[in-house]
Amino acid sequence: MRIATRHGRSVLVSPDAASLIDVAEASRGRFGPEPRSVYDAWNEFVDWAQHAPIGFAAKGIPLLLAELGAPSPDPRQVFAIGLNYRDHADESGFDHPTSPPTFTKFVSSFTGPVGELSLPTATVDWEAELVVVMGRRAERVTADEAWSYVAGVTVGQDYSERTLQLAGPAPQFSLGKSFPGFAPQGPWLVTPDEVAEPDDLPIECRVNGETMQRSSTRQLIFSVPHLLEHLSAALPLMPGDVVFTGTPAGIGGARKPARFLREGDVVETSIGGIGGLRQVCVDAAGAGDLQVTA
Ligand code: ZN
Repeated sequence: MRIATRHGRSVLVSPDAASLIDVAEASRGRFGPEPRSVYDAWNEFVDWAQHAPIGFAAKGIPLLLAELGAPSPDPRQVFAIGLNYRDHADESGFDHPTSPPTFTKFVSSFTGPVGELSLPTATVDWEAELVVVMGRRAERVTADEAWSYVAGVTVGQDYSERTLQLAGPAPQFSLGKSFPGFAPQGPWLVTPDEVAEPDDLPIECRVNGETMQRSSTRQLIFSVPHLLEHLSAALPLMPGDVVFTGTPAGIGGARKPARFLREGDVVETSIGGIGGLRQVCVDAAGAGDLQVTA
């Protein structure tokens, strides 16, 4: 099953990704319309969706990517993991972590799969990432059972303003990764049962058609099950919570010379078996006046 968010309402995506069904209308108000309420009732929702007569052909709304938002647009908690691919830790000049470095992306940075990315400074970078959305409250779960707590996976970009991210005497990533539009996700959430190898998904980022990142989630230092075991040992993960799982090598800031996003750049991010994102970079109004203190 694939679900998405259209104009803030939860929708089911047809198998050919051509049309959508509004969850609240199809379930006569039992689920939705807010996506969070669907995740809060995830087990019941999945059971309903598997048995309900969903008439995409007769009642479907045309799917337009520009109308979609993040699959879980209003999570209670957002987690992001740094340095979770060996080649990215290497290019960043860090040892391979023995515990997942964890920060947040604030929810106001969330947006849908396609659109413009407003560049607040001249040091904005790309990070293609697999994103996990929780379907059940998870507290002290083991890696073996962790996938059963997941609603699904989607494609994410962890856009990063490197000057602000790396300012200060100690790492404090969250603010530099949370400018408006810095967390596009989508185009939809794919449930784990529809992904043949959920721990081995090809991931790629292209800028103006040039491949910048290409890897597989098989290369994660801490796999999705191990991340969920680690996070849920410290605190409960709630339905609808979002986890950005880290990015592989190939970011702009690690290139020689460093390369950052410029007005007019087109960033495409894709994960096999899920889909893709596309942002066109534009200068933020007054960006020349914005001061980011390093
Ligand atoms: Zn990241």
